[in-house]
Amino acid sequence: MKGFFDVQPTKRQAKGVLSCFSCGLYKHVASPKMEAYGAFRKGILNVGEAPGEMEDKRGKQWQGKAGSRLERTYEDMGIDLFKDCLNINAVNCRPMTTDKSANRTPTSQEIACCQDRVLKVIAGHKSKLIVAFGSPAVESLLSHRWKKDLGGIGKWRGWAIPDRDFGAWLCPTYHPSYIERSQGKEEETIWTQDLKKLLKKAATPFPNWADEKQYVKIISDLSPLRDLPNIVAIDYETTGLKPHADGHRIVCASVAISPHLVYSFMFPENETDKRIFTKLLRNPQVGKVAHNIKFEEAWSVNRLGYSVKNWQWDTMLAAHILDNRPAVTGLKFQVYVNFGVPDYDSEIEPYLKARDNSGNSFNRIQVLLDKPGGKEKLLTYCGLDSLYSLKLAFKQMEAIK
Ligand code: URA
Repeated sequence: MKGFFDVQPTKRQAKGVLSCFSCGLYKHVASPKMEAYGAFRKGILNVGEAPGEMEDKRGKQWQGKAGSRLERTYEDMGIDLFKDCLNINAVNCRPMTTDKSANRTPTSQEIACCQDRVLKVIAGHKSKLIVAFGSPAVESLLSHRWKKDLGGIGKWRGWAIPDRDFGAWLCPTYHPSYIERSQGKEEETIWTQDLKKLLKKAATPFPNWADEKQYVKIISDLSPLRDLPNIVAIDYETTGLKPHADGHRIVCASVAISPHLVYSFMFPENETDKRIFTKLLRNPQVGKVAHNIKFEEAWSVNRLGYSVKNWQWDTMLAAHILDNRPAVTGLKFQVYVNFGVPDYDSEIEPYLKARDNSGNSFNRIQVLLDKPGGKEKLLTYCGLDSLYSLKLAFKQMEAIK
C-alpha cells in the first residue's frame, strides 16, 4: 500500500531507474555521453539542450551556429564561453531524426534519462550561476522537483532564482538557436537583457536561507493574536474554493506577524477565540496582506459575517504589476522564483484540489485531517503560505517603492 504523503510517482519511479540504457542514443552517435567542458573560471554553468551535428563531430558543446551566437554574445559581456564557464546539455548524446539526417529536440524521456548526469555535474561544482538555455534545460533542472505543469520557457526566462537545492542562482533564458531562428530584434533584445541581468547575479552573494518551517508556531489558544504589529499576512485553508454553498467552512487559518513568526491554528469554535480573530480582522490599525485578497475577503464575509478592515497589499496583484506574463502570479511560483523553495505544497495540494469544476465542490481536506499527522501538516503548510506572503509583500514593496 502507498504510504501517506507519498509524492506522486515520477517517471523515474514509475519506470525504474532511467539510464543511458533506457535511452539508447549513445549507440548511434560519434561522441557518446559528452562530458561537461570548460575551465569554469567565473563559476558559470551553462545548461543547453543537446549536442547537434557539429558538437557530435567535435566532441564538445556549442560548436555550431547557436554556439557561435552564444559565444559572441557572452564575449560582448566580458565572458569567455569556454574559459569562464562549464558547459553541459540536458541530453548529452546527439538526438537525430530517424533517417539520421538532422538534429531533433530531445524527448522528455531522453531528458529524464540524462538528468542524473546533469545533476551530478551540478553537485560536483560550486556554481555561482546556472544558466538554463531553453525548455529542455529547464525540464532537466526542475522536473524532479516541480510537480505542477512546468509550462514553456516564456514563463521561466529572466528570473534569477536563488535555488536552495543547487546553492546557486538558477537563471533560465531563451536558447540561442531560438534567437538565431526568430531573427527578430525583439527576441534578441529580451535575450541580451536577460543575460546582462542574470550575469550580474554572479557577483551577488548567494543568500543564507533558513528553513522557514521553524517559524511556524501552531497554537490552540489565540491570545497571542491580541497584540499585533501594524501589518500582518493572513491565509485560510477551506473546504472548497467558494464559500457560498451549504456546508462549506474555514478549516484553519494563519497570521504571519513577521518574516520570522507565523501563528497557525484550527479555526476557533469557542466564542473567546472567535472574538479575538474577528477583532483582528476588523482592527483598522492592523494592515492585512494576502495572496489574492478576494479569497480571504469572500470567506470572511460569507462565513464570519465581516468584511476585513484595512487590506493593504495583495501579493498576487503586485506580482502581476511587477511582471505581467501569464502563469507567474501563483504563490508557489512566486515563492520559488523569489525564495528558491520549489513545491513546498506538493504533499498537501492534492487534498486541496476541488473535486470538479463546479466552483462549489468540496475538496479532500477532511481526508487529510483524518490521517495521522495530517492536521500538523496542514497547519504547517497554512503557516508557510502566510509567512511567504508577508516576505513576498515586503520584497514587492521594496521593488515598487
Ligand atoms: N545547442 C545546445 O543546446 N547545446 C550545444 O552544445 C550545442 C547546441
